Amino acid sequence: MTLVLPLSLLDEIRRHAVSTYPEECCGFLIGRAGRDHLVEEIRKARNSAPDSRRTRYSIDAQSIMEAEKRAAASGMVVLGYYHSHPDHPSVPSEFDRAHAWPSYSYLIMSIRMGSPDSSRSWRLDDAGGRFFREEMRIV
Ligand SMILES: [Zn+2]
Repeated sequence: MTLVLPLSLLDEIRRHAVSTYPEECCGFLIGRAGRDHLVEEIRKARNSAPDSRRTRYSIDAQSIMEAEKRAAASGMVVLGYYHSHPDHPSVPSEFDRAHAWPSYSYLIMSIRMGSPDSSRSWRLDDAGGRFFREEMRIV
């Protein structure tokens, strides 16, 4: 399975990540799920982690419900989540793994000294124990 992401949306994620630096940004990847995950829009979320927002993110349940409802209203689904890693590689942390669900895409954008660096997408295996890298195609 591949995450297909328009360049314009990748740029939006980059801008979001730069704007919240040195704290993590987070949001939703919304679109259509078939053989691949086709992202059609992103939706920003507030990082509601009570502390340590430089190294973790949290999205409150209300925002998740709203995002799912709005996606469904236009025939789409929440395909996954994106978040940034300020001055850290685009590799999931143990916190990310422990809070992830199978079947979602997790895009991580690395930000170095306030500038966008690499981005990678990850997915949890079905047992939920391990992240593996998901192919990402920018279109
Ligand atoms: Zn993370």
